[in-house]
Amino acid sequence: MKINRRNLLLGGAVATAAPGLAGLLSSSTGIELPKRRSGGPSLWQNLGGRLPDLPSLQQSHTADICIVGGGYTGLCAAIYLKKMQASLRVMVLESHQLGAGASTRNSGAVYAKFTGIDDQSFAEQGLQHFKNFLQSESVDCDFQPANTLYLYKDDSQRKAAQNNQKTNEQWITDDKLKRAIASDFYAAAKVGRGFYKLNPAKLLSEYRRIALAHGVEIYENTPVLGVNYQGSSLDVQTALARVSCAKVLLATNAYTPRLGQGISGTSI
Ligand SMILES: Cc1cc2nc3c(=O)[nH]c(=O)nc-3n(C[C@H](O)[C@H](O)[C@H](O)COP(=O)(O)OP(=O)(O)OC[C@H]3O[C@@H](n4cnc5c(N)ncnc54)[C@H](O)[C@@H]3O)c2cc1C
Repeated sequence: MKINRRNLLLGGAVATAAPGLAGLLSSSTGIELPKRRSGGPSLWQNLGGRLPDLPSLQQSHTADICIVGGGYTGLCAAIYLKKMQASLRVMVLESHQLGAGASTRNSGAVYAKFTGIDDQSFAEQGLQHFKNFLQSESVDCDFQPANTLYLYKDDSQRKAAQNNQKTNEQWITDDKLKRAIASDFYAAAKVGRGFYKLNPAKLLSEYRRIALAHGVEIYENTPVLGVNYQGSSLDVQTALARVSCAKVLLATNAYTPRLGQGISGTSI
């Protein structure tokens, strides 16, 4: 079976069904320990204030599902699992603080860009679903409409962009461009409408609030060192303790290979 972005989410089910996964789930030596990631809090976190740390995992537990990584993916998965079945014991283990990865370091731009492989309306459905979630959970993350300015530095770039013109885009005059960015470096620009923006750190903090309110158990400063297949269950290993569970969801984004996991194109 190939693991890709879509079916990686099925990893727990796959692991339970496929003992051959054991070799792939061995730990690797590249795990970042809490004090070793450079960068510190993100700009967004510095602007909005840091949240108090949640406890680290000190004792071993048994859970229904263990989620590795506390960014948007891990927290959203945890929230929806609890919404679907409140009795599930869901644990999130985060190596640093929630949002220490891309989830508090992004630009906060929101738009329906990536279409599904076999479903062109996938992105629009996703955006609508996200808006519904923000409203139903009263999420405060400064979500608001925004325009995008596309800048082209020479005529060949401008022509290429003109060949790929979308209905929600409008070219602006050279004078207006110079006034807008106080520079004459760029030769042309167009404005795209129908976008949104938000504050990434506020969104993360709201996901944390909602996850905790649903009874998700979250541990910070708890790097997962490896995931081992143990007969009928999975064993998630940390420095001080283990979590035995039926399913593991890796929400470790670009850090995933450091856990010894394959992503795209890995055959198991
Ligand atoms: C510079 C930049 C700008 C971006 N701008 C946008 C944008 O404008 N709009 C947009 O939609 N997207 C944007 N993105 C993408 C978006 O930020 C990501 O898609 C999203 O944050 C991914 O969330 P995630 O939870 O999958 O990953 P992450 O937020 O990276 O979370 C992974 C978590 O796993 C933890 N972890 C890793 N290894 C372990 C381990 N061994 N044990 C325990 N925990 C571990 C990490 O510490 C991290 O917190 C941007 C990304 C970047 C980098």
